[in-house]
Amino acid sequence: MKGEKLKFFMNNIPFQNFGTQKNWIDGRYIDSNSSNTIAVISPYYDKEIATVPDSNFEDLDQTVQIAKRVFTEWAELNIRDRAEIMFQFKSIMEKNLEELAYLIALDNGKTIADAEGSILRGKEVVEFATSLPSMLRGDSSSVGLGITCTMTQEPLGVVAGITPFNFPAMVPLWMIPLALTTGNCFILKPSEQTPLSTFKIAEYLKEAGLPDGVFNIINGAREVVEGICDHPDIKAVAFVGSSHVAKIVYSRSTANGKRALCLGGAKNHMIVVPDADQNSTAKGLLASSMGSAGQRCMAASVAVGVADVDPIIEQLVEEAKNYKLGVDMGTIVSKAALDRITNYIDEAEKMGAKVLIDGRNSTPPEGYENGYWLGATILDGVDPNWPSATDEIFGPVLTIIRTDTLENAMKIENNNPYGNAAAVFTTSGEVAKTISQASKSGMVGINIGVPVPREPYSFGGWNESKYGHGDITGRSGVDFWTNLKKVTARWPGTTDTWRKYF
Ligand code: NAD
Repeated sequence: MKGEKLKFFMNNIPFQNFGTQKNWIDGRYIDSNSSNTIAVISPYYDKEIATVPDSNFEDLDQTVQIAKRVFTEWAELNIRDRAEIMFQFKSIMEKNLEELAYLIALDNGKTIADAEGSILRGKEVVEFATSLPSMLRGDSSSVGLGITCTMTQEPLGVVAGITPFNFPAMVPLWMIPLALTTGNCFILKPSEQTPLSTFKIAEYLKEAGLPDGVFNIINGAREVVEGICDHPDIKAVAFVGSSHVAKIVYSRSTANGKRALCLGGAKNHMIVVPDADQNSTAKGLLASSMGSAGQRCMAASVAVGVADVDPIIEQLVEEAKNYKLGVDMGTIVSKAALDRITNYIDEAEKMGAKVLIDGRNSTPPEGYENGYWLGATILDGVDPNWPSATDEIFGPVLTIIRTDTLENAMKIENNNPYGNAAAVFTTSGEVAKTISQASKSGMVGINIGVPVPREPYSFGGWNESKYGHGDITGRSGVDFWTNLKKVTARWPGTTDTWRKYF
């Protein structure tokens, strides 16, 4: 136990090359029909740790046919039996938390603590899925003399999920438990940058008793994603990733008659007013902007300071100075992403931003010198129209915009085309109420910088942070993966036939 704690503290992520990986189809690993591969690089080491197939349409079609074959039997199973598999899956995941966290850290660059936290959040959806037998009891009532109407939620068939790099296990877990427990067969296309933990999810599901072919993984990139959008036998597509690709996947899938829900990028704002509690606000701003090295759609990367919030900013800077790479924050996912983020900082500085804390050229932790590191960076005095204030930077960079009034602060926030999350830091109920009512975001935090709703409250943004209707988790997620069936029944003659027995 002592050893485990020490390892955890040191964020020990040993290098390992897992070699050639395959697709997971019909309950086992299967070679792709494509000879093209994609290298998976560890951002801690700048070294290859695996290759995955760059699968093609043939791979996808084979998988869809298998999933179609097993669908009826899976869908006809009692929902309690499907939920029981989720109970087992949850406990297998808990037992293997360390293994899963290590794989997430190795291919994504998260710290072990961050990786574990993300699995626990994903696990909440598994727990929610185990409650579906009571939620999906159906609805039935008498609607006329001798007539009853019964409404049930029925699975769609073969469905698919396409996921991003930044939460390699958590985002797939937003989709898999709900899609499977409602009786669908699922095909996952994980991020080609961070696929390793999803193979474990497949293995754990099998160990939990999931029949072969019900859950499948097709590795790859654009070709498979386009195939998923086009395949006539895939009924629904859930996507999480950048807004640019979300919009493409949404348009292409819906043009092909599919149901689609595509979550995109974000530029989240935190409004800070002078009456905010200094200590918790400074900590909240830092945790929101720098957690997961800023690579999360819930990161609030813009702080809008209303009037004089200097004491809060001063404490924020002091706290940021103590932020340690490899302990408080992992790496950036790739060299390309690191260059892109650094470029935003360089450009903002050239345009006149004051760099209060500079994460460029931070010292990497010992043993990980080749990693893609960027320290916490805080830019002050940024104009709301500069790219660092408008674009999703997706790195540990907090941009501070100063303004005089709450009204202006709200305009700055609501002018951004995204609408994932927003936050306000204040001790005034009136200010909190005004801001949360006026915000055009799907998830609002009051004195909370990362306002992720806990299950069963659903996760999802507005505007260009989401294409499609509803949210990805909670009741809304259940509705996404099901069709409503209404059965209206009358039994003519029943009364006459049976009257003699009364
Ligand atoms: P991405 O859009 O580059 O990739 C997401 C998925 O789409 C991957 O599986 C990838 O293989 C595929 N893809 C990429 N380009 C494609 C193309 N041209 N055609 C078809 N498929 C393509 O996103 P990413 O860089 O992996 O993840 C980061 C983004 O995800 C950020 O914008 C972040 O805000 C967003 N995100 C949003 C949420 C949310 O809940 N709204 C959650 C997590 C991440």
